[in-house]
Amino acid sequence: MRTLFIVPTPIGNLEDMTLRALRVLREVALIAAEDTRTTRVLLNHYEIRTPLTSYHEHNKLTKLDAIFTALETGDVALVSDAGTPGISDPGYELIKEAIAHGYRVEPLPGATALIPALVASGLPTDGFVYIGFLPRKDRALRDFLKELALERRTWISYESPHRLIDTLEILRSVLGERPVCVARELSKVYEEFFRGTVSQALAHYTANPPRGEIVIVIGGHVAEPEAAWDEARVREALFARLDEGEPLSSAAKAIAQKSGWERRTVYALGAERD
Ligand code: SAM
Repeated sequence: MRTLFIVPTPIGNLEDMTLRALRVLREVALIAAEDTRTTRVLLNHYEIRTPLTSYHEHNKLTKLDAIFTALETGDVALVSDAGTPGISDPGYELIKEAIAHGYRVEPLPGATALIPALVASGLPTDGFVYIGFLPRKDRALRDFLKELALERRTWISYESPHRLIDTLEILRSVLGERPVCVARELSKVYEEFFRGTVSQALAHYTANPPRGEIVIVIGGHVAEPEAAWDEARVREALFARLDEGEPLSSAAKAIAQKSGWERRTVYALGAERD
């Protein structure tokens, strides 16, 4: 059974091509590329002569049969213009169908924009949500952000430079102030990380209109700490339970747990009332 290799290519710096990726691109029978002209520049740089065919957004379904025919007689590598195919790039349908047809799918680890942006953002990396490109229309973006507003993990999205300011403004109006990191031109000469609040990022990019390629990393929702319970609040919550007929001992225990007050103090408030 032949193999479909998923081969990442650099997102800016040609040195980010791995040795394994170069070997696989040399050895496969065919390379399916998002844009054959872009990939040819890369292949010429590394003197790779493997035949190329196009596999892009507009032919990704009609091209499946041709790629499966090629897979009958040799291995195929899938590449996109930059980074990892399948990550906001064509690839998903081919990979899904290749799995369904029983072909071996072998992914090579390598360049992608989201991971470097995340790890250098200074925002929590223990859990994160990749949301790809944000919706373009104002209304759709607001609805999307509202749905995600309580997400606690760090968010990562791709953005274009001419939409960055509008996106940050809508972010601030829907979510309020959040920590963000705008990672620009990763791995390239003018690589830049802007770390701060949404307002600070807005001020920075209004003064210095952004150019190049951008990843926005957004801090997740942080729950407000519960306001401390004062005596009036403890009494009110406790008496409400007692009025419903709950025994003092269990009501005192429950309110002590919720409020952080000592159980016997809560119990005493209930006992005093009688
Ligand atoms: N497949 C790619 C990956 O693995 O990251 C993503 C392809 S997507 C069509 C292109 C978007 O990725 C750009 O608009 C930008 O948001 C982000 N991107 C790609 N290269 C980048 C770079 N060098 N610096 C920052 N963002 C980049």
